[in-house]
Amino acid sequence: MATAKDIRHFANAEDYTKHFIIQEEIDKYLPGGKHFIDDDLINRTLASADASPVDPVRIREILAKSEQTCETLTVEETAALMRVEDPGLFEEMRAAADRIKRKVYDNRIVMFAPLYMSNLCVNGCRYCGFREGNEAQKRRVLTMDELKEEIDVVAGRIGHKRLIAVYGEHPTTSTEYIAETIETCYARQVPAPRTGCKVGIRRVNVNAAPLPVADLKVLRSVGIGTFQVFQETYNRKLYEEMHPAWSVKGNYDWRTTCFHRCLEAGVDDVGLGVLYGLCDWRFELLATVMHARDLERWFNIGPHTLSFPRLEPASGTKVPEESPWLIDDETFARILVIARLSVPYTGMIVTARESAKSRDHVLDHGMTQLDCSSNIAIKGYSDFENEAHQEKERQQFMLGDNRSLDEMVRTLAARGTITSFCTAGYRCGRTGGCIMDALKTGREGKFCKINAVLTFREWLDDFASDSTREIGGKLIDRELAAIKEWLPRFYPTVLKQYEATCRGERDLFF
Ligand code: SAM
Ligand code: SF4
Repeated sequence: MATAKDIRHFANAEDYTKHFIIQEEIDKYLPGGKHFIDDDLINRTLASADASPVDPVRIREILAKSEQTCETLTVEETAALMRVEDPGLFEEMRAAADRIKRKVYDNRIVMFAPLYMSNLCVNGCRYCGFREGNEAQKRRVLTMDELKEEIDVVAGRIGHKRLIAVYGEHPTTSTEYIAETIETCYARQVPAPRTGCKVGIRRVNVNAAPLPVADLKVLRSVGIGTFQVFQETYNRKLYEEMHPAWSVKGNYDWRTTCFHRCLEAGVDDVGLGVLYGLCDWRFELLATVMHARDLERWFNIGPHTLSFPRLEPASGTKVPEESPWLIDDETFARILVIARLSVPYTGMIVTARESAKSRDHVLDHGMTQLDCSSNIAIKGYSDFENEAHQEKERQQFMLGDNRSLDEMVRTLAARGTITSFCTAGYRCGRTGGCIMDALKTGREGKFCKINAVLTFREWLDDFASDSTREIGGKLIDRELAAIKEWLPRFYPTVLKQYEATCRGERDLFF
């Protein structure tokens, strides 16, 4: 079996592929050779939905089911929602999606930052600037000292607590390397600019290539948060066109079974995603629902998050401009609404790939997580004085929303949305199956409000500009009043922790 250590000895992609993919770990989750992504069923469902008229009564029944149970919808129900064109009925869907988001996550938006560790890659994904053979890309793998410099900016100057660490697939970024970077992130503590309080990264999520169970256990042992792997496309034929057969990533089954291995290994927060624009979005969304349902069937745990990356321009490739399946902003917003209704309990991430206009538009379309002040160049945070600076040859693709965290926090606060820097959930063991019920019943959303207030206070005092602190402070007053009304007996305990936070104590949570 390939382990974290021995993959370093493989010289090229082919050799690496042969040794790294473990067929038994695929077969175990495709019993009888039958794949849980059933292309025929998806195509039949789409065709039959297309052939029948939209029935508003049926649509409202589906909305009520989603809202009341927070259980994953069926493929047929999701396909029915996709057919709605009438603006009035679609608005009912959007409003239901927004209510579900509030039931599950309250008025919070969770904030994170991407941190790219490397751009060396053995794969040849046709849409990606990091692919092997792209001479224009300046290659680099962060050393641990360079990573510390990055953390000093991301956590010490900007104030992020939650990272998504991103890696190319390459022997130099083995599981051992990934584990070392996670440990380095957690260990680094730096003084905050305004108060001098020690701050650092409290949750490291990872976006990397699929791994074997043994390697996933290594990441679990160092405290990985969510493990994200984007499927790119569930359409097998297109997948094979985009990912050459000689590459590790060319193995569709290894990638699609990755989360089954995660859950088997005890990495129980898993993040699914599709690269929208590669294929028909309706196919992708139905396949996502099938994927979620299969994970629920095996493990009783569904996706902790869904991500919605859209194809963006990248160095040395025309795929992002020429794909026949590119989607416009309206379709993007529609996808989010249908995803929220179909997998009601999940976190939904919309990254700074999107333009500011597109992200502002979808704030009330069911999404729950954003990144800001993002720099995705390798060593970009510490090399560029100006956070918004981008260099095509040092990054995977170009970002569309360069707003600062301070600006975004202020914008969100002005509309009554609290920016959550909370990472308490996974540190208290509220992950995987433990959190599923709490999310579905709305308990988690209320509980997290308290932690969101405490971490928001920390961030306002440690990092915010005067104007952001003022508007954020007013929002906190309203949040505390809401907690007092909701939990009158527990409120004095909350207030005690809040006052301690105001005095400079850090990382207090329930
Ligand atoms: N190398 C690993 C992999 O492919 O699974 C780790 C993640 S890769 C660095 C992060 C993700 O970026 C990919 O899964 C893909 O969905 C996305 N991506 C690649 N090229 C892109 C592009 N041109 N526009 C937007 N997203 C892109
Ligand atoms: Fe490598 Fe990931 Fe880019 Fe593919 S998407 S070339 S695997 S970094």
